[in-house]
Amino acid sequence: MSGDTSTTFGFSSIAADARQGLVNGVFSRVASRYDLMNDLMSGGLHRAWKNDLINWMAPPVRDGRPHRLIDVAGGTADIALRYASAVGRGGSAVVADISGEMLEEGVRKANDHAKGDKLTFVQANAEALPFPDRSFDCYTIAFGIRNVTYIERAIAEAYRVLKPGGRFLCLEFSEVRIPGLDALYDFWSFRAIPELGALTAGDRDSYTYLVESIRRFPDQESFVRMISAGGFARVSYRNLSGGIAAMHSGWRI
Ligand code: SAM
Repeated sequence: MSGDTSTTFGFSSIAADARQGLVNGVFSRVASRYDLMNDLMSGGLHRAWKNDLINWMAPPVRDGRPHRLIDVAGGTADIALRYASAVGRGGSAVVADISGEMLEEGVRKANDHAKGDKLTFVQANAEALPFPDRSFDCYTIAFGIRNVTYIERAIAEAYRVLKPGGRFLCLEFSEVRIPGLDALYDFWSFRAIPELGALTAGDRDSYTYLVESIRRFPDQESFVRMISAGGFARVSYRNLSGGIAAMHSGWRI
């Protein structure tokens, strides 16, 4: 995809240069209702999936053992706050997101949270992270990578900022693998979610983009190949809720 002049925005074809601006528009519009909509759209399941990601990461719990996480496209800080609760006293996390509005929501939540002092917030593009090589022990990106225009660049940046021995973890919507569930899921995605977006956030278009972008994202095995092509080793994935979402893991060795 890198170098193309056109790309997709949901099911529409657009100029690649215009895509990030459209994505930013979506998240600046939905930021204040983002957490509520996540609960409504997933029936609260996104919370369990995010817990699963932290469980698979297994951050060090022994106090004093240093561990640095970067949570890219970290938005309202759900991953970073879970990490802060799980990790021992040597742990710290950077939440990086391109949207100032989403970061503002994250900062607000972190301030209400006893573990918020372990977090810092940085406005940054996943395709060009403002951090030196080999800075972090773990890189996470949850429901973020499908919004990035050049996914290969984001994967290359993940590899660059991870220390040798560091781990890449991605949580993203994926391909449903349970027969029968796909029809129900289609109905929920294309009928119910845009309606919920219209009723709750007054914004049908943003939620139509969100469901369409899910369908455009590579399936589990294709995404394994993309992560491996970025240099990561021992790449594997775990399906969540029958493949509605999947977690991918890879190591920089
Ligand atoms: N990680 C959070 C979560 O799991 O709830 C937020 C996910 S939200 C669906 C997608 C996030 O990706 C938004 O906060 C958006 O601003 C961010 N984003 C989109 N394009 C980005 C980019 N190129 N670089 C960094 N963040 C980006």
